[in-house]
Amino acid sequence: MDYDILIVGGGMVGATLACALGDTPLRIAVVEAHEAPSEWPEEGFDLRVSAITRATQCVFEAIGVWPGMVRRRVSPYQRMHVWDATGSGVIDFDAADIGEPDLGLIVENRVILAALLERMAVFDNIELISPVRVSELERHDDGVTLTLEGGRRVGGRVIVGADGANSWVRRQAGIDTTGWAYDQSAVVATVKTSRHHRETCWQCFMPTGPLAFLPLPGGYSSIVWSTTPEHAAELVKMEEGAFLDALQLAFGDRLGRMESTGPRGAFPLLLRHANRYCDERLVLVGNAAHAIHPLAGQGLNLGITDAATLAEVLLQARERKQDIGDLAVLRRYERWRKADNLAVMAAMDSFKRLFSNNNGILKLLRNVGLKLADKALPAKNLLIRRAMGLSGDLPRLSRNRPL
Ligand SMILES: Cc1cc2nc3c(=O)[nH]c(=O)nc-3n(C[C@H](O)[C@H](O)[C@H](O)COP(=O)(O)OP(=O)(O)OC[C@H]3O[C@@H](n4cnc5c(N)ncnc54)[C@H](O)[C@@H]3O)c2cc1C
Repeated sequence: MDYDILIVGGGMVGATLACALGDTPLRIAVVEAHEAPSEWPEEGFDLRVSAITRATQCVFEAIGVWPGMVRRRVSPYQRMHVWDATGSGVIDFDAADIGEPDLGLIVENRVILAALLERMAVFDNIELISPVRVSELERHDDGVTLTLEGGRRVGGRVIVGADGANSWVRRQAGIDTTGWAYDQSAVVATVKTSRHHRETCWQCFMPTGPLAFLPLPGGYSSIVWSTTPEHAAELVKMEEGAFLDALQLAFGDRLGRMESTGPRGAFPLLLRHANRYCDERLVLVGNAAHAIHPLAGQGLNLGITDAATLAEVLLQARERKQDIGDLAVLRRYERWRKADNLAVMAAMDSFKRLFSNNNGILKLLRNVGLKLADKALPAKNLLIRRAMGLSGDLPRLSRNRPL
């Protein structure tokens, strides 16, 4: 065996898993199809950003990548303001209510990845094989062999599919998925508004989908506008002025005038859940196991908790002198993560359906519900703690404890 663990996909989740297992006796290969940019011009923000929870921040701190993110650029937010565009329902969340310095952070995806890759390079037990795709997978009684494009073969005890929503590894294993397309796409862009965002996430629920303004440094906001695929295509193609007008009309004037914007992109939205997270000598993490609607920014956070959990399970198995590719070991990870992932997916799906419904009774109920929830402080605080990833059966790294 060349390696113990073969991770296919060196995205944010695969790279987190590798770093979590850095400086351990396990030998790791990360096979990644694309070369990640490590440098970019100071001005301008990545189109893709992630709202990361306290639990995810703890994992990044525990595995030593957090300083690399802070050094580049992170944007904490203290408040969240959510409202229903079709009624008067509003709910506010404030970090001060639960004695926390912030509710979470907005971090550009390229910043997260650059810090992870920088950290990965420090460890002698991790090899990044990139840019290259995998072309063949063979599983044997005692291990797996991957053939890479170009013919190189690498062997390990277990393969981890961290290769995203269309996972090649998942398809090779014949693991089916349950889910549906939302008939929505998310338009993303960076926008400058005349009024400062005041370190607040702003989210407006419209019948066509939610529109979020996520605070970035310098008074900029990263927007995620979920809407019909046809509307999304129009929004991406519009001239800057027409796009800003459309955005102003949809969002209103809570942040003053929409002043300027840059490039735009659109991503189709879907819900997809792997029926199993593991098979003989094979296991799935992150979007390869579950893809969800981004309305509450939880997809990456679930994936990072997967990575922290799998690292703990694999290391524990090694200490107990168990075979780390054994199905009984991998099932332990699946049992730990599946219920939590499913609960968050179901909650996001229900929110999406509740707020995109034009039925008069539902509209009334959700607006009354938002107002009641806003007043019910203990329940609201529980909800905040859950959304920050501070409750539940967390792995050690999510509590900022070393493995
Ligand atoms: C508009 C939008 C906004 C979002 N906002 C948030 C947010 O605020 N907070 C949050 O928590 N989540 C958010 N998400 C979800 C989040 O982006 C994903 O959950 C996250 O990117 C999943 O990471 P991953 O590493 O599992 O998969 P990916 O990011 O898809 O990475 C997979 C990696 O595998 C590589 N790969 C694929 N196939 C192969 C192969 N055959 N061989 C080698 N390499 C391969 C790819 O190149 C890639 O690097 C958002 C999603 C969208 C669409």
